[in-house]
Amino acid sequence: MAPGNAYRPGRDHTSRTYPVVPPIYQTTTFELDDTSYADIQGTGGLRETWYSRFSNPTVDAAAAEVARLHGAARSLMTASGMAAIATTLVTLLRSGDTLVAARQVYGDTDDLLTRDLPALGVTVIRVDAFDTAAWERAVAEHRPAVLYGETLSNPQLRLMDIPAVAGIAHGAGARLVVDNTFATPFCTRPLALGADVVVESATKFLAGHSDVVAGAVTLDDGALAEEVQRRLITFGGCLDPHAAFLAWRGMRTFGVRLAESCRTAEVVATKMADEPGIEHVRYPGRLDHPDAGAVADAVMPGPKGAMLGLVLAGGDERVLQVLRRLEVAVEATSLGGVETLASVPFNSSHFTMTPQQRLDAGIPPGLLRLSVGLEGEEALVADLRQAISATGGS
Ligand SMILES: *Cc1c(COP(=O)(O)O)cnc(C)c1O
Repeated sequence: MAPGNAYRPGRDHTSRTYPVVPPIYQTTTFELDDTSYADIQGTGGLRETWYSRFSNPTVDAAAAEVARLHGAARSLMTASGMAAIATTLVTLLRSGDTLVAARQVYGDTDDLLTRDLPALGVTVIRVDAFDTAAWERAVAEHRPAVLYGETLSNPQLRLMDIPAVAGIAHGAGARLVVDNTFATPFCTRPLALGADVVVESATKFLAGHSDVVAGAVTLDDGALAEEVQRRLITFGGCLDPHAAFLAWRGMRTFGVRLAESCRTAEVVATKMADEPGIEHVRYPGRLDHPDAGAVADAVMPGPKGAMLGLVLAGGDERVLQVLRRLEVAVEATSLGGVETLASVPFNSSHFTMTPQQRLDAGIPPGLLRLSVGLEGEEALVADLRQAISATGGS
């Protein structure tokens, strides 16, 4: 056998044609020449593709797709949603800085805000995400460097008034970071509403098939993008090329998936609102939603998302029985897949709280959370009806 490497892609590309789908560049390193070294040295290694923790064409293809969905200048793929959030906040904050953050955030983000950032010397002030006056007061009093919140909260399914909070941030020379995971760029493009950075778990609706953990940071500020990229390199939060391919593959159908899931969620919300056994339906598209009107129109001008909350009569005991009887919806944590996922906050995302704390946080007993997939409204409504009637009707 001849010595040397068997495969030299740059040299043996004999085909006149090119693949429609980006190849999975499952390679850690890239063969270099004098031009590459000059590029690496000239850009601190940020531009030339030379090592896959810095950049990789398959990962770049996924990033370009996220940026396109947001109409943004730049996206960076990360190993998970938490890598996107942690890397962004550590890039923007220094010891001695203050962060004003929503009280209602994802559980692991809450840990980051209550344990890890304070340990790095960051003061974290929490406010009610849906109270614009509270954001205003906290910013005036604490002069933060960064404001942080989620477009659509879990499991209240309330909307943050992004234009108002962005205005407050910019009036004080601070930046607004928004977690847009639940809303998705199909319903909300936070950068267009004034946010400075969008962080997302691509694990959920973006990739959309419950088969890959990934995240993304999206922004228009090129200099800040390089700052975040530098931390991804030093903290090692890069996405693997194989995972990036799955994320890219999932995003090819993002628009049609979201259109169908949002439409189905709205129909299921309407049908279940009149159903015996259901006390209340939470969906941002409903007129009885607390953010209906100006906030919903600004933050979700079109479809109102694929997340739905049903408050069942009979409390947490009953909701658990209903959950166990569902045959179409799958009892699982997470969201955003092609299959409808059902969960109850009291035993999963919010189990550490007491019933009273949950009530104070807007999580009533009997709340069932649905991430609506692609089974269609008939199958989902029939499934909910059979589960509710099997556990004692109304
Ligand atoms: C899932 C989720 C995250 C974390 O994403 P991972 O990909 O699991 O790291 C962050 N924010 C929200 C709102 C989420 O739903």
